[in-house]
Amino acid sequence: MLQNIYRNIITDPDLFQNITPEIFIPLTRFITKNIDEKTCIPDVEQIVIIPSKNAVSRCHWLPGLNGCNGRYYVIEMSIDHPDAHTRTLQWIQVFAHEYMHHAIDRKEKNSDPHPLVWFDETLCNISSVCVANDLFYDLFFSKTSELHWMRDNKNSLARITQFPSQIARDSPVANLVAKSLQCGRGIREFLPFPEEGLNLALCSFAIASCAQNLFLKNPNLWKIVPHVNEIPIDADIHSLFHHLKETADPSYKDSLEELINLLLPY
Ligand SMILES: [Zn+2]
Repeated sequence: MLQNIYRNIITDPDLFQNITPEIFIPLTRFITKNIDEKTCIPDVEQIVIIPSKNAVSRCHWLPGLNGCNGRYYVIEMSIDHPDAHTRTLQWIQVFAHEYMHHAIDRKEKNSDPHPLVWFDETLCNISSVCVANDLFYDLFFSKTSELHWMRDNKNSLARITQFPSQIARDSPVANLVAKSLQCGRGIREFLPFPEEGLNLALCSFAIASCAQNLFLKNPNLWKIVPHVNEIPIDADIHSLFHHLKETADPSYKDSLEELINLLLPY
């Protein structure tokens, strides 16, 4: 049966065969609250979490589900690892990624890819890293009693925080992109990035591995999210950065400058 598990988050826990509500509900609450607070996204819409039927996790919206006004976001979760503890980590990594997609979703988007899909994917990959990092510190200082069962395993969260760097090491395509960023050449020579497919995923992990420290160092940088949301669907990287600079507040202006210099150095 559908139930509200946190604010605007709805799910039917019985639909998930291989992860129990005692595990995924408190994690979902932690992640939602964490991302909402960091991004300051203005409006809250209904979000329904369901298991994925085709082993692909994704976030999309449905207009007026059940005849209601407004839009429902649907987050389809693929949680399929054979090891139970890894499935817990998978929930954290996947939900933090997909929930960030909902936060940066451009309103007029249809299902087609758009020129900045690599930027969205990069932010969503960094979102998983930052959530895992914040959860580690939360468990370390024992603030969230609801997640006490994870305390003994908190070191395994490093598997999430180190994931983008691991991809950047192991995949030749990702390695090329990461090297270019590390040498101060940015991503210019790789543009336009593929709009979908394996290379898009690898490139966005490579960029995430180089940009994640800026978000870890200054979580206020997440305040770019509502402004990413404001640009037209077909905008390019230059108009995105121009808009982000124009709307930046002093709490993250310098970090944004560092991010832009990393990606598109002069
Ligand atoms: Zn994604």
